[in-house]
Amino acid sequence: MVNSHSTPLQALKEHFGYDSFRPLQEEIVENVLSGHDSLVLMPTGGGKSLCYQLPAVCLPGMTLVVSPLIALMKDQVDALNANGIGARFINSSLTSSEIELAQAQASRGRVRILYVAPERLAIPGFRRFLQGVDLSLIAVDEAHCISEWGHEFRPDYRNLRQLRGDFPGVPTIALTATATTRVREDIVEQLGLQQGKVFLSSFNRANLTYSVENKEGYWGKLLSLLQSRDGESAIIYCFSRRETEELADDLNERGMPARAYHAGLDPEVRRRNQEDFIRDRVPIIVATIAFGMGIDKPDIRLVVHHSLPKSLEGYYQETGRAGRDGLPSHCALFYSYADRARQEYFINQLENRVEQQNAYQKLNKMVEFAEVPICRRKSILTYFGEYWEPENCGACDVCLSASQEFDATEVVQKVLSAVIRTGERFGAQHVAKVLRGSREKRVLELGHERLSVHGIVNDFTEEQLREVMGQLRANGLLVRNEGEYTTLSVSSKGREFLNQRRKLALPRLKSAEVGDGKTGRVSRGIGEAGVGPGIEDYDPALFEELRALRRQLADEQDVPPFVVFNDVALRYMAAAFPQSLESFGRVPGVGSAKLEQYGDRFVAAITTFAQARGLADRTGEMGLSRNSESSRRTSGRRERQTAGRSSTYEQTRQMLSQGLTIGEIASQRGLAHTTIIGQIERMAAQGQELSLEHLLPSPDRLQRIKEALDVCGDQYLKPLREYLGQEFEYDELRLSRLVLREMDRNED
Ligand code: ADP
Ligand code: ZN
Repeated sequence: MVNSHSTPLQALKEHFGYDSFRPLQEEIVENVLSGHDSLVLMPTGGGKSLCYQLPAVCLPGMTLVVSPLIALMKDQVDALNANGIGARFINSSLTSSEIELAQAQASRGRVRILYVAPERLAIPGFRRFLQGVDLSLIAVDEAHCISEWGHEFRPDYRNLRQLRGDFPGVPTIALTATATTRVREDIVEQLGLQQGKVFLSSFNRANLTYSVENKEGYWGKLLSLLQSRDGESAIIYCFSRRETEELADDLNERGMPARAYHAGLDPEVRRRNQEDFIRDRVPIIVATIAFGMGIDKPDIRLVVHHSLPKSLEGYYQETGRAGRDGLPSHCALFYSYADRARQEYFINQLENRVEQQNAYQKLNKMVEFAEVPICRRKSILTYFGEYWEPENCGACDVCLSASQEFDATEVVQKVLSAVIRTGERFGAQHVAKVLRGSREKRVLELGHERLSVHGIVNDFTEEQLREVMGQLRANGLLVRNEGEYTTLSVSSKGREFLNQRRKLALPRLKSAEVGDGKTGRVSRGIGEAGVGPGIEDYDPALFEELRALRRQLADEQDVPPFVVFNDVALRYMAAAFPQSLESFGRVPGVGSAKLEQYGDRFVAAITTFAQARGLADRTGEMGLSRNSESSRRTSGRRERQTAGRSSTYEQTRQMLSQGLTIGEIASQRGLAHTTIIGQIERMAAQGQELSLEHLLPSPDRLQRIKEALDVCGDQYLKPLREYLGQEFEYDELRLSRLVLREMDRNED
């Protein structure tokens, strides 16, 4: 698993499936690999984790990650394991024998990345253990916790000084999303990083759109915000606990599934609500600001502030939870003067005069932000001491209303002509496809590729064209006809528009990216380093199917969906239609471990979808294979993998015959449980002989599983687990199903 021969870029593709670095990542990784200390200041979503995780897979020894976020450790470790990287955590949630096991594995060099909470560093037994480990790197996550100037000071972080003293030669990387100078200097001081290099990135979150809304008419506005993000994850921050519960109730009544979250809830309820949100079982969480610290869900598309936060620091941090994956996301703040008074009431209760003045100052800045119509992005960045030049950011309510309309004459002519040429018998989706030049089966069957309007639009995406058609319906140029299928036709007003060659301005498109007045295309949220061309042309129906598949796999493995793939990877799939493992492996976010573990299932789903519609594989077209370096690597990897596969499978088979459990095999080989089970399933499917009996649960549990299989069938695990209850783990069910199938087969 050690990758001492590959370059960081190769390791990035191999382990994480990414083709390029985000800004600063490469420099940071190089600095770490050359043995120097680093301090990394990057906003949430900037991609900090990779700055120590990638060196960790390249360095010979273990990387120790100190993090205060115990609740996150399991997800982080699951995500690394899914990428085939042997990771573990040690914290107070484990039993002492589990801790011993983890330490024993680390001592034998089986753990590449070990997460611990800072208090662990004070335990003599743990320090003795560390002395016996080949330690390559120390990573200090949430490094601002070491500073008393920060608002999250953790006395335990002072243990880190001792750690630095114990391992003077081991490079340290400290990371934080807090960039104030005072905190930064304190981190350097406290951790002794004077010789290290500081990497400060911009704190602009390019993919976030900010807006301040008048609180009048709140309910209607909120509903339409939520509807525009239908089914996607949203957080609504409220002022009080009572408000969170009331609002969640109201939303549920309106048929919008929502859960409340605040510190006063029964811990079990709170945990479950948070879990439901993270696992995509419920899209909306209504919370006090107690929610969010332990969350790294990457696909939150909307953050709403129901009322005024008490400072811009808080506002920036809370909104920062939106769009970590770099896809366009929205942050809306509802403001009314009365909310200011509510905050003032609390400030007046403060006894310390200095604190009180401080709090007033912060609140005043916040109010100014909400009331003064200057670019929201500029206001935020200026507040944090960053210089922001552009006149119009194109992605906040102030800038957008300044460039609210664009000249839509040409695109509207094309749209109306296409509706007429296709016989006014189709919906917006089909018309958009024809305009964009799709060669889908249905388009070809209808002969629409021969129409003069076929492929005449290339400066608007399908999504944007659909939005244009929506606007044309709103202003009466198009008419929607409901029937067995909804179709669009051109109204007499629309024909007049065409005949008289009128001009038309339309409101700026919502689906437009951050940018200029027309469609708003300047820079994508993710920037050059992230998404290539064409991702915005994804097929929404396929995206939804892949989301469902992702959820199903995640549930089976008992991990959050984003551990399987994040939204960016799914959008690529839904835009590129990869229909072979080879092209699937080129999708950003598909590393070799995920290719092996999930490739078959996703390729099958995509192929079924694509074939039914005559869609060709577009990975090449999208530039995902143009990079010859990367494609050579990919195919090289595939060969290695096929060659290496027999031996990794063979090892599993032999260890099984020695009577080892899945847990033992997984930990000895530094692989995830699910990888091992997946290998067993495949070998079983190929009819190989395997010793599996020792993996079965106790006879009475097995009996219950058998009964459940009779009732629910054996195709899906989820209904099975729902039937049996939480005490049965997915791994157990998956294995029992496998062994029972094998036994059935042998009886035949
Ligand atoms: P941070 O810790 O700075 O908030 P994360 O490390 O959680 O950010 O990364 C945010 C998201 O960006 C994750 O979903 C991660 O997979 C993705 N990401 C990180 N680096 C890259 C990269 N080089 N290319 C594409 N996506 C990346
Ligand atoms: Zn702006």
